[in-house]
Order: sequence, then C-alpha cells, then structure tokens
Amino acid sequence: MKLILLGAPGAGKGTQAEVICNALNIPAISTGNLLREAVKNGTALGMEAKTYMDGGKLVPDEIVINILKERLAQDDCQAGFILDGFPRTVPQAETLSQMGVEIDKVLDIEVPDEKIMQRLSGRRVCEGCGASYHLDYKPSKVEGVCDKCGAKTVQRKDDHPDTIKERLQVYHAQTEPLKDYYQQTGKLVVVEGQEEVAETSALTLKALEA
Ligand code: ADP
Ligand code: ZN
Repeated sequence: MKLILLGAPGAGKGTQAEVICNALNIPAISTGNLLREAVKNGTALGMEAKTYMDGGKLVPDEIVINILKERLAQDDCQAGFILDGFPRTVPQAETLSQMGVEIDKVLDIEVPDEKIMQRLSGRRVCEGCGASYHLDYKPSKVEGVCDKCGAKTVQRKDDHPDTIKERLQVYHAQTEPLKDYYQQTGKLVVVEGQEEVAETSALTLKALEA
C-alpha cells in the first residue's frame, strides 16, 4: 500500500503516520524528518535547507525531491510506504507521478487553523529519533525525555508563534491545492482530526478500509 498524508502543519500527520505504520507494517517517511537529519549532520544540502525551514518556508522542490528519491530507493520501501509531508506542492505531486509511483490513497487530515496554533506551540520533538510529543495531548512519560530512545525532547525552532503563522499561510497557498489535485484522481479521503488522538487514529484506520 502506498499512501500520502495531507494536512496542515500540526494536523497530526506524524502521529497518524505512526498509527498506519504499526497497523500495516510499512515505513512512514517524513520529508521534514529527513531534512532535519540532513541539517543535524551538517551536509551541504542540510545547510541550504535550514534557512528555509527556520523561516517556515518550503524547501525548494529540487532538494526535497532528491532526498525523497534516495529514501524510496531503499529496500524497506518496496512493499509500500506512507508519505508524511510530501508532496507539499503541485509540482512535487507531478514529479511523484512521473517517477511512476502509484498512490493507493491520500488521507487528508483536517484541523482548523485555531487548533493548529494551540497544538504546535505545545509540540515537543525528540532530538534523537524525531518522535513527536505534546505537552497536553501526548506527553512523554518523563517530561523532556523521549519514551522511545531516552534522548532529550525540545521545541522545534519553527514551532514558535510567528513562524507557525507563516507555515499556515504557506500551507493554504501551496499545499492545500493538492486536495483538489487528488480529489480529481478519486483517491482523496478526508479524516476529521479529533480532540482525542485515539479517536483520530480510529478514523484513520477506517479510512484505509474505505
Ligand atoms: P510540519 O508538517 O509540522 O510543518 P514537517 O516536519 O513536515 O513539519 O516540515 C518541516 C519543514 O521542512 C517545513 O516547514 C519545510 O520547510 C520543510 N519541508 C518538509 N517537507 C517538505 C516538502 N515536501 N517540500 C518542501 N519543504 C518541506
Ligand atoms: Zn527519541
């Protein structure tokens, strides 16, 4: 199964990607995590991506596409995968299709902008493995420590309020048109993000059967 998760920043794509990953045993691929890894490793590509990411802008298509191609070429992706945060522009979606990748379903997780602000400002991520937490909705067992790997959890630079606003604008302008794009292929399924993570997860799993 080849899946795409669409949704605003903070809609919970990462969390739902993990739910699907556990249910279907296919890898979740987050271009945001791949980019942050490149930044952390100080690669040339990472250094270029960083300025865009810190400002809440999209990283140029060419860079993201290269990073994604490399990841999809790995063995664990051959049986399927979940794309979290890619495509994010129509040209990226067109490239994916030109690559011959046949997507089975696109899950669009809908969450209103007001909720997004609240969610992203409380978000914390693990420096070690990239796992995502929320101070109120999904706290780690020990505050500031990752449940999975024991590394420190921190606030992402782009989760500060001004940058969140910029990211939402970018989402509406550049990513939201993908809803129409995939609606036209008949592959779009809308999942309404719920207050409780477990409820959204149940809707996600149901959407996979639809
Ligand atoms: P979120 O969905 O919460 O905004 P991500 O971790 O998916 O967070 O992305 C963080 C940043 O990485 C984005 O703001 C953008 O700068 C960059 N990025 C990730 N995926 C893409 C993509 N497909 N195209 C362009 N930039 C991307
Ligand atoms: Zn961790």
